[in-house]
Amino acid sequence: MSDAETLFEKIIAGEIPSEKVYEDDTTYAFRDIRPQSKVHVLVVPKTRYRNVAELAAADPQLLSDVITTAHKVADLEGIRESGYRVVFNTDSDAGQTVFHVHAHVLGGEQLGLFGR
Ligand code: 5GP
Repeated sequence: MSDAETLFEKIIAGEIPSEKVYEDDTTYAFRDIRPQSKVHVLVVPKTRYRNVAELAAADPQLLSDVITTAHKVADLEGIRESGYRVVFNTDSDAGQTVFHVHAHVLGGEQLGLFGR
């Protein structure tokens, strides 16, 4: 297993420091180290699946928990009204770099269009 595959497990365990935004029994939310917008928070399930497709197939309730936490993060960050984006990069063409499924919660400013 590469370092990239274990990074978020180390963050959840507190072995690598992170700026926590929210935590509950099944999910953990923390600020992205290289923010792509004014608000950029990552939401991870505490149980590791490679990507959102594997999570959806194996544990739909846990996927629901991740989405619920993403919207809680929007509330906590004060961007529920202004709008925000929830993104799961999935494998190579999407640029997924950490293979522990995570939702990006992006907002706090006008976001650009999708694509390249
Ligand atoms: P992906 O490209 O896999 O969808 O997103 C991985 C995200 O993890 C990237 O946005 C990257 O900036 C973030 N990231 C990588 N390493 C760390 C780290 O050590 N701490 C935090 N907080 N974020 C990280």
